[in-house]
Amino acid sequence: MNIEQIYKDANALLEGHFLLASGNHSKRYLQSAKVLEYPKKASLLTDALAKMIKDAGIDVDTVCAPALGGVLAGYELARSLDVRSIFVEKKEGGMELRRGFEITPGEKIIICEDIITTGGSALKAAKAIEALGGEVVAFASLANRGFCKRVGGNTTAKAECALPEDIPLFALDDFTFEMYAPEDCPMCKAGEGQAVKPGSKG
Ligand code: ZN
Repeated sequence: MNIEQIYKDANALLEGHFLLASGNHSKRYLQSAKVLEYPKKASLLTDALAKMIKDAGIDVDTVCAPALGGVLAGYELARSLDVRSIFVEKKEGGMELRRGFEITPGEKIIICEDIITTGGSALKAAKAIEALGGEVVAFASLANRGFCKRVGGNTTAKAECALPEDIPLFALDDFTFEMYAPEDCPMCKAGEGQAVKPGSKG
């Protein structure tokens, strides 16, 4: 399964001149929601992710996603693992479980995202789950931006990674892009127009 090609085919891996949330510029950008546009393709991706989790011997009761970004990936992963799917939502400074979702003490939970950059949202979701007595047994994501180390990956965890080292991260692939400070950006220097901000608002 060529994950990069699947992202390219779905127009989820963009090439251009982008302004990232960090303020840096990049030639490439992952518009993760695009790879989930077609549910049958999405389920092939989460089937592969579920296989990695099962092969590692991880026992899981429930998948929990941080809304909004992780919800579709989390739902499909729960289908692939044949377990329950819930999500947590943003509140001041963290995440919380709403809408009548409940967890039982000791319930084994995987936190699932569509993409892990530094893992900040996933960590907030994990804290919300642990505060309710759930046990976070793994993190999962379709794509890993290369700041955190995934099981079987070649990258090492960078200082920016917010995820705890003692809980495994499963992801289909690493997408490590060159990033430039605006003053060092080769596209800016070459006069390739202004960097655009794709993000979730564009
Ligand atoms: Zn630039």
